[in-house]
Amino acid sequence: MNVVTNYIKSLFLIELFKGLRLTFGYLGQKKITVQYPEEKTPLSPRFRGLHALRRYPNGEERCIACKLCEAVCPALAIKIESTKRDDGTRRTTRYDIDLTKCIFCGYCEESCPVDSIVETDIFEYHGEQRGDLLMTKEKLLAVGDKYEKQIAKNRELDAPYR
Ligand code: SF4
Ligand code: SF4
Repeated sequence: MNVVTNYIKSLFLIELFKGLRLTFGYLGQKKITVQYPEEKTPLSPRFRGLHALRRYPNGEERCIACKLCEAVCPALAIKIESTKRDDGTRRTTRYDIDLTKCIFCGYCEESCPVDSIVETDIFEYHGEQRGDLLMTKEKLLAVGDKYEKQIAKNRELDAPYR
C-alpha cells in the first residue's frame, strides 16, 4: 500500500507542491533576514565580547591586582604580575588575556571587586598575525579608554540583574 501511495505522490509531485505552498506562503510576509554587516541585531548589555580594563574618572587604573580573575578563569587565559607602588597600593605590571584560550564565560568580570575587567559588546575583531589575539595590559586599557561610555551604560542597564 505504501508503495502505491508513494508512487502516486511522486507521479503528481505532491511533495514539490507542498514545498511550494510553504514558499509562497512566506512571500508576502515581513522579511526577517538581517543583511549583516549593513544591518545589526540588538545586543544584550550582558553580551560577552572583547575584554577591557577600566579606569576611574581621574584616570587611575581600577585594577588592584587581587588576581581573583586569574584564579577563577577556567581556561587559564589570564596571566597577572604585580608590584607594590611607592604609595603602598598594589598594581599590575603585567595583565595578559590570551583570547585564543578564552571561552568568554564572563567569570573574570563577575569576580572583579572593582569592576575593572569587563567584557564589552565588541565582537567584530580579528587577528592576522600570531600574538594579535594576546591582549596585553596596554591593549586592554586602550579598549577600556575608547569604549568607557558604552561600557558604563551597559553596566548601568545590567545593574538590577546582578
Ligand atoms: S571570560 Fe572566562 S575564560 Fe575568558 S578570560 Fe574571563 S574567566 Fe577566563
Ligand atoms: S581585574 Fe579585578 S579581579 Fe582581576 S586582578 Fe584586577 S581587581 Fe582583581
